[in-house]
Order: sequence, then C-alpha cells, then structure tokens
Amino acid sequence: MLRQNGNNLCNQADCSPEIQLLFLNNVKGRKVVVWGTGELSGYVSPFIEKYLPISFYTSRDAVGAFRGIRVTTKEASGLSPELHYVVVLANPAFVEIRQDLEDLGFVQYYSYFDLGSMQEWHNPWLSDLGVMSAKPLKYRSCAQIEYAELVFQGPIDKNVKCIQPCCWIGLDPLPAVAFGGTPEDTLKSFMLLRREIIAENIRFSLLGDDISDEERKFTKICTKCPSFIESGWPAQGYRPIAAVHFAMYPSPCQCKCTYCFVRNDEKHGSLQFEESIHSKCYDRLFDTVGYALDNKMISEDVCWQFAAGEITIHPYKEKFLDLIKNQAAGFVTNAFLFDESIAAHLSSNPRSSLCFSIDCGTPETWRKIKGVDNFDAVVANIAKYLQVCQRPEQVQLKYIILPGMNDNSMDYHGIVEILKKLQIARLGITPDHHSCFDNNPSVQDDLCKATGYLAALLRKNGIAPGLGHTQKQLERIEYYANEALAAD
Ligand code: SF4
Ligand code: SF4
Repeated sequence: MLRQNGNNLCNQADCSPEIQLLFLNNVKGRKVVVWGTGELSGYVSPFIEKYLPISFYTSRDAVGAFRGIRVTTKEASGLSPELHYVVVLANPAFVEIRQDLEDLGFVQYYSYFDLGSMQEWHNPWLSDLGVMSAKPLKYRSCAQIEYAELVFQGPIDKNVKCIQPCCWIGLDPLPAVAFGGTPEDTLKSFMLLRREIIAENIRFSLLGDDISDEERKFTKICTKCPSFIESGWPAQGYRPIAAVHFAMYPSPCQCKCTYCFVRNDEKHGSLQFEESIHSKCYDRLFDTVGYALDNKMISEDVCWQFAAGEITIHPYKEKFLDLIKNQAAGFVTNAFLFDESIAAHLSSNPRSSLCFSIDCGTPETWRKIKGVDNFDAVVANIAKYLQVCQRPEQVQLKYIILPGMNDNSMDYHGIVEILKKLQIARLGITPDHHSCFDNNPSVQDDLCKATGYLAALLRKNGIAPGLGHTQKQLERIEYYANEALAAD
C-alpha cells in the first residue's frame, strides 16, 4: 500500500527502484489492481505500468475508465487475495480502505511509502531521490553501485561521459554520465543513472532465467565483472554518497606504466595538464563536489579516493586536501616522491591509506613496466611513509599480474624480501584490466596459475595475499597455490 499524507503528493514514488521491486516481488502471478483514481494514482500508475500491466482500477465512487483502464467499485470488483494484488494509491481514507481490504481477506500488506515519516528527509534532493527501505533483497549488483560511489574518471576536458558509479577502467560501455549544465544537473543525472541501474538489476533478478544478461541496458558489462554478485542488498533508494573517486585527467604523472589506461587511451588520453586550458574543467569538478557537499549528498563518513595521474604533483593537490579536510582518504601514488602534505594527512588520520602498485620485485622489471629506473628510491619512499603512519596497514601494496613480464620466480622472491624488510603483512594481487575481462579459458588459467604461485610463496612467508577474484577464479588460484606448496 502506498499512501499520501496531507498535501505532500508522493510524486517521488516514481523515482524509486524499490517501489518497483516491492510490486514485482510480491505480485506472484496475480493481476495488479490499483485502488485509487486520484492525483496520486495519476503520478504513480505509469510507473507501475512500466513493469506490470494494471488490470483495472477500483474506487469507491468512480465508474467508467481512468487513464483508459476500467474502473470498478469495490463491490463489483470481485477482489480476492488469490487472484489480485492490490496497490493502494490512497488519500487520507487509507485506513478505511485497508479495513475494506481486510474484510475481503487481504490480511498481508506493506506500507511502502509513508510520507509522514519522510518529513525529516525534506531536503529537495533527498525527497526527490528518497524512499523507505524494505527488507534486504537478493539480486545481482555490486557494492560500488549499492553504496553509492561517485567516480570522476576519464577526460574532464572533453564533453564525454566521465562520471560513473564505479572505478573500473577501460570497460566500454560502462554506465556513465557527462557533466551537465549545472552541478545540480550533473548530480541529478548521475543519481538517475544509479537508480536505473539498481532497477534493472532488480528486474532481471525477478524475471529469472527467462531474460538474458545480454539484454541488460546498463549492466551488460557488469555481468563479466567479479564485483557483480548476488547478495542481500539493503534495498534503500536513497543513500548519501559513500565514496568519491578522483580518477580524471588531464592529471600529470611522471611514470610510464605499460598498462596505464590514460597513456593507452589514444582517443582521449592525456596526462598533460595546462592551467590556462584545464582550470575551467577543474572548476566544474570542484563546483559539482561542492554542491553535493552543501546539499548533504555526501555521507559524513565518506571515503575520498585519489587515483588521478600522480597526486603528489597534481596542481590542485592542496585544494583537494582542503576539500577532504581530515576525512578518510585513499591516495594512489607511484611513490616517486615522498610528499610531506600527504604524509601529514596519513599521520593524523589512521583511516586514510596510501596505495602503491609495486608490480615487481626487481629493479629490472620495474624499469620495464614503469619506464623509469628508480626502484630503490620508490621503495625507500614507501619505507618513509610507513614510518609516519599510525598503522602499517595504512600502506597498501599491490601486484598487478602482467603475464610474461612479472610472473617469474625472481620477481616473486624479490617482492617477498621487500615486504619482509618493510614489515608489510599483506599484498593485494590483481589481474590487469584486459586479462580480467578476457573470457578466453587459457588466459584465465594462466592468470590463476600466476596468482596461485605468488599467493603460495606469500603464505609460506607469513604474508597474506589479498585476492579480489571471482569464486571460480579463487578455486583455480587455490588449486595452483596448493600445487606450488606441495611441490616445494
Ligand atoms: S563494472 Fe563491476 S564494479 Fe563497475 S558498476 Fe559494474 S559490477 Fe559494479
Ligand atoms: S602511475 Fe598511474 S597514471 Fe602514472 S603512468 Fe602509471 S598507471 Fe598511469
């Protein structure tokens, strides 16, 4: 049942994927009947019809048709809980209608949308996006979408879609929006995209095997992503943004990683920042984030992430640090430099972290992958960051497996020695983006083998491998890790 409270008409209802879900989940093959032919019905009915046909309307006083659909009185409707699923789009007569329905045997109901309890949410943003929560629902989605992450990724100086709900790069097409005319336009279209993605995920889950993943409009690519999993998602329509990622360019970087998406993006890529050209683009970025902060769209315990070029030499580094104040932040760095401001932030905020992709264990491989001969200097910088951190876990090292380049015994033993020297107890292992989404079984198997061997060596030395792989990949990795340990 949905109800209207006073004059606050819930035109917000059509914004919510959860409202769809609640209908779709409970209808169980029955005919959908809408009780109410008032203004509220006019708003919400088209939304219901996107997913399920309305069989007829019921109203105490109306007969004839509403929106071209038959209207009957309660008496003439023949309503029964076995045959009908009734959506009440009601006015203050809600309580009496519920009594009428109970008299007809409808003993189970849900009040999905109660504007009375929405008053505290009456910020225009929240009421536009907001809706009541329901029980956790099982469907395929990912944490970045569900917990509302806002990712600026890609060229912000071109009129392309560079704002997306997750930070996977190089995937095309990934759901994304472009900057709008104003910060409000930008954020509205981003929030709409997120809602539509969740709605699609719910719809596909409810429709089961009858509908192929290929038909997904927004999340076709997500079905190949290890983060896209079935889980009991909290099913809340509105959430403040839990994380903001800055991974946009032009953003300068001194490194030349072979796998660098920006360097390899021939169409749009550029790490070259020119104040006279690009300051306007950054103004737009800061205005958008500022608007979101002013309108309380960003959670108070937000986590900020910086993975744009190299943060230590970013021309707006200080402005970014001012923006985040002392909130938790993750800084991705190439560690070419030891940066005092970032060190101070890490030192004063134990929730903040520094992420460094080391990707090798020898200076030779470092030079091959990174294009610069400064391996010892970057390892020394990492040691300095560790000294200022409150917790060693604040410094996170990652090893991107690049088959044929860094999956050899020299590098594997080298990285273990470095980790032991730095007293780092965990190493994240990830595939490079291309291999990750490559469905070729032999590519996947090579990747699992390389990961399994490294994981085994780490475990043998008391270091935990951090594996963010799919269940299927994890099983193969485990198999190869055990094989390596047994052969040792
Ligand atoms: S690509 Fe993966 S992380 Fe990104 S939105 Fe899709 S499922 Fe989520
Ligand atoms: S450190 Fe990052 S931005 Fe710089 S080249 Fe490597 S991947 Fe690209």
